[in-house]
Amino acid sequence: MWCKGSFADADGPTHKYMQSTPGCWAAFGRVLAREYEDQRFFSVHRLTVDAYAVQHPGVPSRQSIQSVGVHLIRLCLTLESGLLPAQANEAMISAAKHKSRFRWLEPPASLGPLTIADVEAACGADEHIAVVRNWANQMWEVWSPYHQAVRTWASAQS
Ligand SMILES: [Zn+2]
Repeated sequence: MWCKGSFADADGPTHKYMQSTPGCWAAFGRVLAREYEDQRFFSVHRLTVDAYAVQHPGVPSRQSIQSVGVHLIRLCLTLESGLLPAQANEAMISAAKHKSRFRWLEPPASLGPLTIADVEAACGADEHIAVVRNWANQMWEVWSPYHQAVRTWASAQS
């Protein structure tokens, strides 16, 4: 299952379990490079990673189950619980200790219109940050059939 982004044809690597086209994976790499270069992006960097991961869930495997699980947990804690990025990250790491409880969540039929292509096309930091926030909210929304499962995983005590 691919995201709806359109990307220039490219040959190149893709991720082992976050399945995408090579063009999409390359765009993700360019966006991450942009975010690492400029601290204005630090506030949304983890949302970019989370949104990308859950928009590219791949096929059932231990790694993809854990990846979708931890990234949905961090989206939940950031967008729903309002945790700051560092807090959400700590809580995600803590919840991930219980990842053996995670199960495969059949991806929703639609993963939404926004993709990494929209982030890459943003002009300037303000627009980039706004697009990432919209994209992350979209991704949390499209996975809504599983919000209860994710909240349970997110609240697991160590
Ligand atoms: Zn994609």
